[in-house]
Amino acid sequence: MDEIVEKPASDSLTDGRNRKVSYLRVSVTDRCNMRCVYCMPEDVKFFPDNELLTYKEIERIAGLGASMGITKIRLTGGEPLAREGIETLVSGLKTIEGLKELSLTTNGLLLERYAPRLAGAGLDRVNVSLDTLDAEKFKKICRAGDIEDVISGIQAAGRAGLSPIKVNVVVMRGRNDNEVADFVDFAVRENVSVRFIEFMPFTRDEDWRSRFVSREEIMESARVKYELTEQTNGNPSEPARYFKVGGAEAYIGFISPVSHGFCSMCNRLRLTADGVLLGCLREKSGLNLKYILRNGATDEEVSAAFRIAVAAKSSHGRFDNLGERPMHKIGG
Ligand code: SAM
Ligand code: SF4
Repeated sequence: MDEIVEKPASDSLTDGRNRKVSYLRVSVTDRCNMRCVYCMPEDVKFFPDNELLTYKEIERIAGLGASMGITKIRLTGGEPLAREGIETLVSGLKTIEGLKELSLTTNGLLLERYAPRLAGAGLDRVNVSLDTLDAEKFKKICRAGDIEDVISGIQAAGRAGLSPIKVNVVVMRGRNDNEVADFVDFAVRENVSVRFIEFMPFTRDEDWRSRFVSREEIMESARVKYELTEQTNGNPSEPARYFKVGGAEAYIGFISPVSHGFCSMCNRLRLTADGVLLGCLREKSGLNLKYILRNGATDEEVSAAFRIAVAAKSSHGRFDNLGERPMHKIGG
């Protein structure tokens, strides 16, 4: 019998600072069925359809990434459920050898309808963004949609087994900073983890500092009602700090790119909806994979683009200034 020789995983996605890249966030569209105040202007212009990567192109890029050490993929946007046939992409990606986790971040509006088919197509889990538990505030922050649909979506995702579910809350002064304890209650009640994210300036919002709330302040608001005990999961690339909520099975997390950057342990690359490979949310330019793919690139040429993106990855992304690209164009 022939001896089975296990091939070592390629180390070509490790950069000069010894950061091993294993996580690819893929934006499948820049379109969205919401217009969150901190993310997208109301009169936004979207990429024409032919500028978006096709599902086949995304699968090819993801497959080559996986052959070089990508083990985790998250689909994001824009709103990923707003792109038709997203479950087709999920089932295509699911067959990729070496991929250990396939997840998706959504605003939840269409999740009740999509959860069973996403689970059926092989999606492992979802993160859902929800910035307020108040229906009127929801309309002001998201400028479209209905909070009840998001709540039903979270519950449907739980029933479909797309868990553990993480709920992302961007905390903004004067908008929802008085709801921190309510969200901890929500985590306990709905059996989800809630992660409080610091507001990052992306659009031409010169006034962002007046909206910014730091991790320390958010944590203090949560501690008014709950005892929090820090947890460690041993993953040095995890950007969130997690805490167990006293007297409950729930966890809350804090993602604090502005006050406590996590660049030194960053393990991710980003693929924008129009096919640009970026090492960081804050990079101005990246390699246009769509262009090279549509001009007949070989697998080796696409793999070389991955290596270049990793080598060029920022050592320290600045999150305390206005970004070059809006969040929905990069894929948050
Ligand atoms: N539409 C999906 C959603 O909202 O979950 C996926 C895309 S959205 C751009 C991904 C994440 O980025 C969301 O959790 C959203 O709250 C977060 N986000 C967008 N703009 C942000 C900002 N200025 N600061 C912090 N987080 C932001
Ligand atoms: Fe859409 Fe998500 Fe941006 Fe809100 S945060 S506008 S839901 S892409």
